[in-house]
Parts: sequence; structure tokens; C-alpha cells
Amino acid sequence: MVLLELKEVTKKYPVRLKKGRKSVIAVNQVNLTLCEAESLALVGESGSGKSTIAKLIMNIEPVTSGQILLDDKSIHRKELKYLQLYKNIQLVLQDSATSLHPKMTVQEILTEPIRNFFPKEKNTNDKCFKLLDLVGLDDTFLTRYAHQLSGGQKQRVCIAKALAVQPKIIIFDESIASLDSPSQVAIIEMLKEIQNKEQIAYLFITHDLQSAKHLCNRVAVMQEGTIVEIFSDWHEENLKHPYTKQLFRYSQE
Ligand code: ADP
Ligand code: MG
Repeated sequence: MVLLELKEVTKKYPVRLKKGRKSVIAVNQVNLTLCEAESLALVGESGSGKSTIAKLIMNIEPVTSGQILLDDKSIHRKELKYLQLYKNIQLVLQDSATSLHPKMTVQEILTEPIRNFFPKEKNTNDKCFKLLDLVGLDDTFLTRYAHQLSGGQKQRVCIAKALAVQPKIIIFDESIASLDSPSQVAIIEMLKEIQNKEQIAYLFITHDLQSAKHLCNRVAVMQEGTIVEIFSDWHEENLKHPYTKQLFRYSQE
């Protein structure tokens, strides 16, 4: 079943020139669907519009034209409160340091979304344990601060924070890009396990086709704001667009 749908979504940013104004088309007429419990990768080089898509879905930026539907309903409608959107979709960024408050312990960081989204929950401590366990950290991490964590552990805490909301969708925007490759592999394996248990849909944004291959069944390839190809068959001979073939070849090297 389709959870999220982008219909002809376009985003233009105004830019000022010395004389007058112009606009950059960051996202151009994009159509994309994300199904329940699916892992969809969005790959493309830097500047191709991937983060803009994440921002449009999270309603951080308004679309210029087109529609974004969550469960068949527009995310732009007035009555949809931001809390309702964030209850369904969570975003995990690359630079986790900024998402983790430096003066809060991991326990406090995880308790905050539980309080916000499940105000009736009595046993928040128990929930924090379970969340940490899901992301492969033991309970000794509860009392730590962000500066006492490695890069991989910070990303795990950010993922636990997103999971605390029990969303239907998690968007990962280059979430593991700054980690070394063993840590990347470990987190991808963990994400697969979490998905099996929790049936969450992933939109995995990356410039790295190899990590997309490990995690995702379907890949949307972006170039200069447009989706040039969506594929699920990893045989090079079946890829159609020259840019996809080029990405594929680079990733083999
Ligand atoms: P990616 O995440 O694939 O690297 P982005 O979505 O961040 O790409 O950017 C797509 C294009 O939109 C780039 O050309 C970028 O410069 C432009 N862009 C992004 N955000 C803004 C903004 N706030 N104002 C102007 N241009 C922007
Ligand atoms: Mg980006």
C-alpha cells in the first residue's frame, strides 16, 4: 500500500543576482511513491535536489507546485498539525551532533519525543531501554552525553530518537555518510533488522550506490532536480539512463 506520494512536485528557490533575480529549480516535476515497510533509495550527486525533497516531505519548505500526499491526504492542508506529520515521518540527518542537545543525557534525549508524542506513557525508562536495545546500545549509554559518544553511536541515538515516535516512515538524509565503512555496514544491518521488526518504510537518501544496494529494493536516481530512472534490478545491462549507468560504474570501482 502506498504511504507517501509525490505528484509533479517542483521547488524553485529565488536567487538574487547583481542585476535582478532568478530562480534555481532544485526539484523539477518529481513523481515518487513510497510503500508501507519499503526501503527506497534516492541517489544522485551533490546538488541534485535530494535534501530539498526531504525538506518538502517534512514540510520544512513549501512546494512551488505539485502535491505531496501522506495516506492519500495532502501534507499541506491547514488542519494537519506539524506534530501529526512528525508522528508519521521522522528525519535523520547526516550531522547528528546538531540533533543531539549537548547538555542532555541520552535518556533525556529519548524521553523528550516519548513525552511529546505519547503523553500518557508512564514507563518512559522502560521505553528508553527498549529503544537503545533496538539500535544496539546497552543501558550504560543512558547517562552519557553526546560528546561521550562516537560518530556511529551518535547516529544510533538519533535513529533511536526517531524510532521513539513510532513513525511509519523514516527519511535518512546522508545519515551514515560521515561514518567509516565498517560502521556504515553495521548501521545498515541494524536498519534492516529494525525494519523487519517494526515494518517502517525508509527513504534512504545517499550519494553512495553501494549502501543503497545493501539496504534498498528500489532506487530512484536523481540528476539536476529530476528523477531520471527508478530501478529495482541491479543488473547493469538492464539500467536504462546513461547517468544511472555512470553512477553504477563509479560504484563498482
Ligand atoms: P543535494 O541534497 O542533492 O545535494 P539540495 O537539495 O541540497 O541537493 O540542493 C539542490 C539545489 O538547490 C542546489 O543547486 C542548491 O544550491 C539549491 N538550493 C538548496 N537550498 C537552497 C536555498 N535555500 N536557496 C537557494 N538554493 C537552494
Ligand atoms: Mg543533501
